Amino acid sequence: MAKNLKSYSLTSMKNIMVDFGFEPYRADQLFQWIWQKSTEDFSVMTNISKELRKLLSEKFIISGLKKEKETCARDDSKKFLLTLEDDNHIEAVFIPEAKRKTVCVSTQVGCPLGCTFCATSLIGFERNLKAYEIADQILLIQDNLKNKITNVVFMGMGEPLLNIREVEGAIEILCSPIGLGISQRHMTISTVGLIEGIEHLLHTPLKVKLAVSLNFSDEELRKEMMPVAKKNPLRELLKLAREYSLKKNMVTFEYVIIENVNDRIVDAQRLLKLLKGIRAKINVIPYNPHPLLPYRQPAREKIEKIYQYLLTSHHTITLRKSRGQDILAGCGQLAGNKFLT
Ligand code: SAH
Repeated sequence: MAKNLKSYSLTSMKNIMVDFGFEPYRADQLFQWIWQKSTEDFSVMTNISKELRKLLSEKFIISGLKKEKETCARDDSKKFLLTLEDDNHIEAVFIPEAKRKTVCVSTQVGCPLGCTFCATSLIGFERNLKAYEIADQILLIQDNLKNKITNVVFMGMGEPLLNIREVEGAIEILCSPIGLGISQRHMTISTVGLIEGIEHLLHTPLKVKLAVSLNFSDEELRKEMMPVAKKNPLRELLKLAREYSLKKNMVTFEYVIIENVNDRIVDAQRLLKLLKGIRAKINVIPYNPHPLLPYRQPAREKIEKIYQYLLTSHHTITLRKSRGQDILAGCGQLAGNKFLT
């Protein structure tokens, strides 16, 4: 069966060229056609000789994700339901702002972590995405909307640090000047807080930003709501985050506020105590409800009160304007095609 060239890294494309008896730099041209010029058609690759194009087309195909459905929210964010080669489905979300055009990508089909408040956990875990399947979400959306993507957040379905090799492969494609040319500083990996994964990030040359879904400042509650917290104690997690903030970039802590769960001022006080000494930004996210989950978003005044309280600290505080909620495209609302109405 013909292999899909999209699934090859630049290095492995170079090996193919050498095997075919061509110069390795031919791989740069091929990579550029695929990832920068977004073509799936060998015949338009005019700077590559006819002979090489013929050889390539006999052995390989170029095939990307397929768009199954595109839904537009009232605030202009757009959710894409995408089909993979094996007919699994994932979702990615386009979030336009004045200067930034961000895509929120999935890194796994489903998620194995079982956070009780997140819709992705409802579908369980199917498999990890390949590097090209992650990068292709951005290329497909960029082509569809004819809008240059400037920022990427690894915050869709799945846990990026459980699939870090492929995420790294995707970053390589995304930041390459002959790929999508997106700066690593404009990319954020969001993790549930896996100690081993953050340790790995600390020791790689990656320059991406780190976001930690802290959410609950009470450790017992955090273990209840996010079962992986049992094996990833807060103390160690915060120690590593501190190190990351000193060695690399300021760390963002996501704080999803859920009604009657973590919406009191004492919860916020405890949060500030935990973050003492860390170069941190706190991103307050009002809970996005899902029809199949029992939790609710607190009243506006309650969220505002917590936000105002956090503003008294020296940290940078942002209140996330929830995007795409009416089409279930907000944080924690992505569930593939499983619950589409
Ligand atoms: N597994 C990664 C990335 C996916 S979740 C992580 O946990 O960070 C992305 C963000 O959405 C996380 O901060 C998570 O806490 C948040 N989230 C999950 N469910 C949510 C919901 N229903 N409403 C608002 N945010 C939610």
